[in-house]
Amino acid sequence: MQTLFESEYQERMLQPVEITSATMNQLSHELLAVEQENTLLRLILASSSDPILITDRHTNIIYVNPSWEKLTGYTFAEVKDKNPRILQSGKTPQKVYNELWEALNNNQSYTTEETIDKRKDGSEYQIHSTFFSVQKDGIVFNYVQIQHDITQRKQLEDMRKGFLNIAAHELKTPITVLKLISQVHIQKAKKGKKTVINLDELEFLDQELDRLTRLIDDILDSSRFETGKMFLQVELINMTKLIHETISEIKKYSRNHAFLVSEMPKELIVNADQNRIRQVLLNLLSNAAKYSSPKTKITVAAKKITKYVVVSVEDEGSGIAKEKQKYIFDKYYQVKEKEAKGFGLGLYISKDIIKRHKGKIWVESEIGKGSIFSFSLPYKETASRS
Ligand code: ADP
Repeated sequence: MQTLFESEYQERMLQPVEITSATMNQLSHELLAVEQENTLLRLILASSSDPILITDRHTNIIYVNPSWEKLTGYTFAEVKDKNPRILQSGKTPQKVYNELWEALNNNQSYTTEETIDKRKDGSEYQIHSTFFSVQKDGIVFNYVQIQHDITQRKQLEDMRKGFLNIAAHELKTPITVLKLISQVHIQKAKKGKKTVINLDELEFLDQELDRLTRLIDDILDSSRFETGKMFLQVELINMTKLIHETISEIKKYSRNHAFLVSEMPKELIVNADQNRIRQVLLNLLSNAAKYSSPKTKITVAAKKITKYVVVSVEDEGSGIAKEKQKYIFDKYYQVKEKEAKGFGLGLYISKDIIKRHKGKIWVESEIGKGSIFSFSLPYKETASRS
């Protein structure tokens, strides 16, 4: 492998210099230092458990470490002077390579999310890679790729997802049965008939079953998104009407808060999947109730702003610290895990739904004062039905 130091050294060697014994002495000292540095670098690279590949400026392989050889099944001799393209499986989107070269050309490092490469025996492996170039005075000497094998982690993740999916599906049937039974008994109790447990307990049971159903639906939804199996049934809907309907719905099982609706235009038409937008609204409303004290107000507002209908849900709850706000739409993220009242999936799913409708979702919040969660959806100008 030719290091940056060696190439620099070669350039200097090409300059005409007067050879005196002092120059000879200095040169041999410098050579020794370069050699020592080179040996040290080689040792570090060779003992790294992360696979490392280095190319020259023409992207021909000039070095791979033993971890790389172990991962790919190729020996250094087999890939020396070859282009790393030999490892491509064809399953990494072209976009990744475009972004990679754009970053490298701008002297920036680039980390790929998950790419699939191919071993010598044709089997595939998944990696995270960090690429960077070794440059001096704007001249590229080498490209370096440090890999991180994530095949095993991905397999475990897939197993976990598969298990969650099966468990969620399996739970749906008994919960539907329990829900039916609780509904029958609630009706009986309301008519004054004798039931094994009293109406309050039945209603509590019913609410908890609803909560469980929402959790299971969230798990199934998040797996639907990831496997691309979520389809929207888009139609013209009146957001104002949908907000009123959803508020009536949430009032049925969330009785500790005052749900209010600000004054809104009679018609706010959007092109959207009604059930999915109701799901987002219910998510924001139930979060507002979950994370604020009983008897406080939860206010929903909607208006047209430029080409969008913007809906907001405001609470007087605990609020979210500024530095945490950027994470709350991430999968499984919960601000206070110990006080968590869900799975950290609701906002992740809501964001995905809104994104699929070409809208945006965001939060404004202050600790101790409360939060305002808002989302926007493109306004449908020509429509006039509700
Ligand atoms: P969860 O099921 O945990 O409620 P979400 O994805 O709906 O999951 O929310 C993620 C996290 O964001 C919550 O765990 C909570 O910490 C925070 N959060 C969401 N909504 C609010 C809110 N209205 N007020 C305060 N914190 C909130």
